[in-house]
Amino acid sequence: MRIANSPVSAREFCAKASRPVVLVPTMGALHEGHAALIRRARKLAGAKGSVVVSVFVNPIQFGPTEDFSKYPRSWKHDLDVCGRSGADLVFRPSAEQMYRDDRSVFVEESSLSRYLCGASRPGHFRGVCTVVAKLFLILGPDIAIFGEKDWQQLAIIRKMVRDLDFPIRIVGHPTVRERDGLAMSSRNDYLTPEERTVAPGIYAALTLAAGATRPKDVLKGGRRLIEQIPGTRIDYLELVDAETVEPVRSFSRPMRLAVAVFLGKARLIDNIAVAART
Ligand code: AMP
Repeated sequence: MRIANSPVSAREFCAKASRPVVLVPTMGALHEGHAALIRRARKLAGAKGSVVVSVFVNPIQFGPTEDFSKYPRSWKHDLDVCGRSGADLVFRPSAEQMYRDDRSVFVEESSLSRYLCGASRPGHFRGVCTVVAKLFLILGPDIAIFGEKDWQQLAIIRKMVRDLDFPIRIVGHPTVRERDGLAMSSRNDYLTPEERTVAPGIYAALTLAAGATRPKDVLKGGRRLIEQIPGTRIDYLELVDAETVEPVRSFSRPMRLAVAVFLGKARLIDNIAVAART
């Protein structure tokens, strides 16, 4: 496994790498969810292709009051996860290499980004789209893998690739959960033992609420169940169209029930599929 610390060396590696080149973008603090994405990349690349993992805590997707400086960093552990999951290259640029002080060009998606995390975290998806576009341009992958845990992000990246004609296939990977149902997340590290005990209630609430017969009961039930979890404060709970991320009030198209919850120092997000019904 090779390590590239600069965009130039990563570009050189990918230009010579045998194809397909499959990219897994991450912010590090890797857990089993990330490992599953890297193993999936290895499968898609086959024995001949190349798997690239980027590890970059992207400053421009964090708001001024968010957790950029406190975001967990674990470089040695990350290298180990990449190595044992089948990566060929780990790309770990510095913020200075990715962003010049006088930068003035960004990539912005303007429709799906209006909802959910886009509404709660102004500028977040502009930061995400900009860094992912840069990674695509630096590395030129054939395939890129994103987790369904960040459903809105996955939908926005698909839209960006379509609208900007990136010649890249986007693959979504199902959410990897702890045994008790909690979606794996680097931010789970922020939870105290007590908070960690109650956190699986978020996923349990989503699955229970999704069974209701009317959309408004899904939301009402979900809200009630999450509010019963000690220490939680709901940022949003929405039933949205799986593709456009627009809030829906009928069950006519494939949907996601999506939630963001503050629990102690953590802001946790999760979502599940809700099938269309007549
Ligand atoms: P992050 O490092 O949290 O920015 O995540 C990097 C990639 O891993 C994104 O595509 C995430 O959606 C994905 N990811 C993070 N956690 C999970 C999980 N529990 N299951 C599946 N994918 C995940």
